[in-house]
Amino acid sequence: MPKGEKDARRLLGRLRDVMAGGGGAQDRLNRVVTLIAQGLGTDVCSCYVMRAGEVLELFATEGLAQDAVHKTRMRVGEGLIGEIAAKARPLMAADAWSHPSFSYRPETGEDVYRSLAGVPLIRGGKVIGVLAVQNRDNRDYQDFEQEILETVAMVLSELLAGAKLVHEHELSTVAGNAVLPLRLEGAILNPGIGVGIAVYHQPEVHVTRLLADDTDSELARLRDALREMRRSIDSMLAGQRHMPGEYTDVLETFRMFAEDKGWVGRITEHIKTGLTAEAAVRKVDDDMRARMAQITDAYLRERLHDLEDLANRLLRHLTGDGSTAAMSDLPDHVILICRSLGPAELLDYDPSRLRGVIMEEGSPGMHAVIVAKALDIPVIGQVPSIFQRVAPLDPVVVDGEHGQVFARPGEDVRGAFLDGVKARQQRRAYYHALKDTPPVTKDGKRIKLMINAGLMMDMGNLKDTGADGVGLYRTEIPFMARSSLPSVDSQTQLYGKVLEMAEDKPVTFRTLDVGGDKLLPYWQSAPEDNPALGWRSIRITLDRPAILRAQVRALIRASGGRELRVMFPMVANVAEYRAARALVDMELAREAARGTPPPERVRVGTMLEVPSLVWQLPALLKDGVDFVSIGSNDLMQFTFASDRGNPRIAGRYDPLSPPALSLLKRILDLCNIAAVPVSLCGEMASRPLEALALTGLGFRFLSLAAPGMGPVKQMILSTNLSDVKPYVMSLLDLPDVSVRGKLRAFAKDHGIELS
Ligand code: PEP
Ligand code: MG
Repeated sequence: MPKGEKDARRLLGRLRDVMAGGGGAQDRLNRVVTLIAQGLGTDVCSCYVMRAGEVLELFATEGLAQDAVHKTRMRVGEGLIGEIAAKARPLMAADAWSHPSFSYRPETGEDVYRSLAGVPLIRGGKVIGVLAVQNRDNRDYQDFEQEILETVAMVLSELLAGAKLVHEHELSTVAGNAVLPLRLEGAILNPGIGVGIAVYHQPEVHVTRLLADDTDSELARLRDALREMRRSIDSMLAGQRHMPGEYTDVLETFRMFAEDKGWVGRITEHIKTGLTAEAAVRKVDDDMRARMAQITDAYLRERLHDLEDLANRLLRHLTGDGSTAAMSDLPDHVILICRSLGPAELLDYDPSRLRGVIMEEGSPGMHAVIVAKALDIPVIGQVPSIFQRVAPLDPVVVDGEHGQVFARPGEDVRGAFLDGVKARQQRRAYYHALKDTPPVTKDGKRIKLMINAGLMMDMGNLKDTGADGVGLYRTEIPFMARSSLPSVDSQTQLYGKVLEMAEDKPVTFRTLDVGGDKLLPYWQSAPEDNPALGWRSIRITLDRPAILRAQVRALIRASGGRELRVMFPMVANVAEYRAARALVDMELAREAARGTPPPERVRVGTMLEVPSLVWQLPALLKDGVDFVSIGSNDLMQFTFASDRGNPRIAGRYDPLSPPALSLLKRILDLCNIAAVPVSLCGEMASRPLEALALTGLGFRFLSLAAPGMGPVKQMILSTNLSDVKPYVMSLLDLPDVSVRGKLRAFAKDHGIELS
């Protein structure tokens, strides 16, 4: 056995006895430094502990003046000890006095010592102190001695954490001024406000057994865990064959890391010095995380994150603890912290406890965000280094209105947000009380308000809001949340359940609208320069009619005995509508021939969201279309040539502007002349001011996101349409970029409540 390993194991064996033995924490620490000095044959061994304010305090020493203990303090970055802490790296100096960072502390009596070797004490990726040895001679410390010091440092870090020598907050594994309030910024993925307690989605695995009884069996445990982990990554890879290339690339890289000889080699080395397999994994991971803090290169940091993920996986295999926080006892108000999240993982949590989600990654179109919308949970994504800045159990405020997170907020900030939450709840209760009040204007015009839905859980909103029906059921959402295309049977069941939950209210199903920003995980298509203008939506389903046929068949089967309402997305001309409608007619005939109970009535319509269709609308209306639903989200993005998902240009064009309102008016007039019902189901219908303009234009059917129901209904109840109509008409010819301000002023003057 190499000399270093034998020495380390002997020393660790003695340390184990000290740690298992009795005595106070300070007493044990004193014995530990003495043992280390003896074990390594050094004249001095000292332990410095990080106190609040980034100050390192001498906590125990063998060899330096005992009077200096708890008196000598240095800032991070000051002297050699401070430099080790600042860089989170070991430092070996045969001639410490000539080192540029050397700072002499006379009270310690260190003038007789020439050489110094020190290593950081790291826990949870944060430097919590420094362990240093010194010698009278200019000793050239060897690599194996550094290794031993690092291994001992790990054990010492645990001792310090467990011994409560300093307040828990001071040893917190969160870097920086962890006890101070902190404001972080991120991207709004779902708005709303949440106040609660931080819970890590994947709690850090706590390594409690540090020192091994039998090195060989630890090595065998490591081998087994590595094998199991690789197997699970392989099966993940196998299950994701149909994922977009980028995603499998990430997994392949991950798999490559799992084979990384350097990484596994370092873990093995540490086991050989006497650590348990899990302690060795933790040690390698801690070192890496501490070094990661110094790396600015984004690509490298990402790769190191991969290794960190891998270490956590390996630890789970070693400890058999594979759980997420969803299975544990949760506080009443949880702010979930995660790197990223799958939709099913989010659904594992008790929604009544979830107050917010913060992700280090995350994007608006991800499935977990779609689920969070349905659950009305605010989500902030792209918050860098969240795990380094927010510790479990920290109080946290998620301000999903402004894309910010307050960690450990002061009472004033917390109180202000709690007041905000309370006000929102009161408003919600008020809106809830309105659910049975029909949306009728002050001058007696009944406006039909429907909701948009896409998940089964959205269907509960029908009753809760008193909506007139579902004006847009986005069928792609269930397709997106699965790992393969659903069969006709499973679609039939799903649509049947939707109709059952709707009771006697109408539901308008929109056929599959994928592509663009809505990707199916199991469906790989070639990358496109402009996906929003590319092979998406009806273009896909007309090119792959089997998919559309299967969906229509399921819709027909689910609608036996009741009305079937179906519409097509992204129709650009009459020919596309005709082709899709012909397919519905063909399926109706086929199902009838099969003896499937027919729908009581069939209504086939189209979304109007591609401007070209506006210019062929008279022909379409003559062609027997049963209804038209304006998808203003896409219609506006194509009309203004302005990407709907790009925050940079989000405020540049306004749907409350003369060109947009004139366009909508033209569509409405054409439909009215042809006596074809027309509704609008884009996001603008969910906002009271926009809804006011729409009703002023003459819209009588709106379909909106459920949270918009209360505010829009309140607006309708307080509006006299005969006042609004001429005013909105007067805006259409203005040269303004936006008429938002004018309309708001009008609403204020006329007592229209916009909440
Ligand atoms: C729209 O474009 O307005 C619409 C309702 O469809 P989606 O938002 O699903 O594209
Ligand atoms: Mg659309």
